[in-house]
Amino acid sequence: MANLSRDSVGAVVVEVGTKTSHTAIMARALELPAVVGVDKLLNELGAGDRIIVDGYRGQVMIHPTEQKVRNALARSQGLRSRALALADERTLPAVTTDGYSLTLSANIELADDVDTALKYGAEGIGLFRTEFLFMGRRVPSEGFQRKCYQRVLKAMSPRPATIRTMDLGADKNSQLFPLGKEPNPAMGLRSIRLSLKYRNVFLGQLRALLRASVSGSLHLLFPMISCQKELREALAALEEAKEQLRAKGQAFSQEIKVGIMIEVPSAAVLAREFAREVDFFSIGTNDLIQYLLAADRQNERVAYLYNPLHVSVLRLLQQVVSSAHDEGIPVNMCGEMAGNPEYIHILLGLGLDEVSMNPLALPYVRHIVRNTNRAEAIELTNRLMLMSDSESIGKEVRTWMASLFPDFFTLDGPSDILGGL
Ligand code: PEP
Ligand code: MG
Repeated sequence: MANLSRDSVGAVVVEVGTKTSHTAIMARALELPAVVGVDKLLNELGAGDRIIVDGYRGQVMIHPTEQKVRNALARSQGLRSRALALADERTLPAVTTDGYSLTLSANIELADDVDTALKYGAEGIGLFRTEFLFMGRRVPSEGFQRKCYQRVLKAMSPRPATIRTMDLGADKNSQLFPLGKEPNPAMGLRSIRLSLKYRNVFLGQLRALLRASVSGSLHLLFPMISCQKELREALAALEEAKEQLRAKGQAFSQEIKVGIMIEVPSAAVLAREFAREVDFFSIGTNDLIQYLLAADRQNERVAYLYNPLHVSVLRLLQQVVSSAHDEGIPVNMCGEMAGNPEYIHILLGLGLDEVSMNPLALPYVRHIVRNTNRAEAIELTNRLMLMSDSESIGKEVRTWMASLFPDFFTLDGPSDILGGL
């Protein structure tokens, strides 16, 4: 997906995966219609066959009639023009009717995506997934990396850009590290564990980030921290990279903020302790939910268990946000939960400071925030927190959102216009 050219591909259909697998995340970043997890599709199709890919509904229609094609094109144009009308509001602040301001940022996968983020009105980059720079045959040079990071920092300046150190492994497999076949890659040698093992590559990335930091406001983010020792080692590597630059007389900003992803349950439970060590948190719900519920985010067969509104997820999120705020640091959410307009009242109610999402979702989330009374969102959230059954929580949220935003939500969930987010 990372290497597809958006000019020559109309849509993508994949037999495996779910909405939070990186294939789907990347397709959204490329603004490509996509449907994932279509089991055995290739048994039905051959080269040259015509299909309709409806990314809004998550449907694929094979061998459609001319009439069906015409209907699909009209539907696609209608939905697109509604999206464009909302995008016109992109310069308006995301402030609720009672004055609460939520920072709306964008997730990007490649440096050039920063233009899309700005086009849809991002107030910052909440997550730059740098691992896609490491998908080639060679480790990207420090100079090349610095240029990529600088491109993002400069384009956003003076707004912040949160750049995450490489989060490789699991479904973001790279040929650069001899990982072999791991029995359980999502829990294997991945992410910060891999960076700490291949320390020279990590130091190179940190030096590139530090050198780029003079071009804007860098928020440096370490992924998948699971214990204090890992954080200490990551911070020690950062210090060492700074020392190496000082020795060479190379400049870097003194204003860099350092944060960690909260995406492993142990880190969420220890939020209070971690909040004393770093400048900010970013909650990665994609992984946090898969680990908390033991439901592989990539496996369509257990996708029914993967539930952001699970009681345990909501309670853990509440604990993370309140611990962070008690210790005086802000909390961002950059997992896909943040870009799902259905959940935005809960996130407002929980007190998130920033939400970061695929750029396409920004206009919808902005529109909802601007038409929300936060006091009511807090009431909803408090009510949900007293409930103990996840299904009832889901029902309550759907009923609530459908009553307030009937254009966007039905009692069965998001309406077509939001279906692809
Ligand atoms: C997450 O886990 O929620 C996250 C944002 O990171 P990624 O999807 O890259 O694992
Ligand atoms: Mg993650």
